[in-house]
Amino acid sequence: MQIYCPICGRGYAQKLKDTWLVVCDTCHHLVKGSGLEPDQLMMPDDWSNIQVGTTGLYKSQNFTIMGRIRLQMKNDFRNLWCAQYGQEIMWIGQSLESIGFFKPPFAPYPHNFDQIRAGVNIEFSEQIKLKCELVEKCIEIRYEGELSPFPFPMGNFNLIQASNAAGNTVLVFHQNENSIQFLWGEVMLVYGVTFNNTKTWSQWETK
Ligand SMILES: [Zn+2]
Repeated sequence: MQIYCPICGRGYAQKLKDTWLVVCDTCHHLVKGSGLEPDQLMMPDDWSNIQVGTTGLYKSQNFTIMGRIRLQMKNDFRNLWCAQYGQEIMWIGQSLESIGFFKPPFAPYPHNFDQIRAGVNIEFSEQIKLKCELVEKCIEIRYEGELSPFPFPMGNFNLIQASNAAGNTVLVFHQNENSIQFLWGEVMLVYGVTFNNTKTWSQWETK
């Protein structure tokens, strides 16, 4: 579906099946969506070689990056990329060391949350246990491109990351005891993933 920026008139061909937000690439106003602050639509430069339009291959199927959510944490930041993956949506979580691929959409966290803190094990099933590696407060959130729904648009949540040696990983977004969502996925080392149509400078290419 073709939509147009109400400010600058730029046309945009909406591609995701459940588009929640489109940020104009030219003037950084909302083409679709509402309720965000203007500075949340300005994306700062960072070290990432992935960008909107980057493509790649995951489990023998191509994906295309459509948009980005940048989470500024207290000590660090991370990118959560929204990708078109066949007919599905895939979230790609990027930190300095690893890339996480999250295929099921955001869902309410089904387990007891009370004891989650860095270092403890989270039992997802009898077979799957994940070690909690990070608990950090998100202090700022920014948006770019076209995005599927994100449950906490104003960014007031704690992010918990847990994973195990088998490559299972989970991101838990905890706003309060009644609002906890998670993404389930698989984590890979950055060198195990190939992306195309990336920015040309990158520490990733110095391998
Ligand atoms: Zn515009």
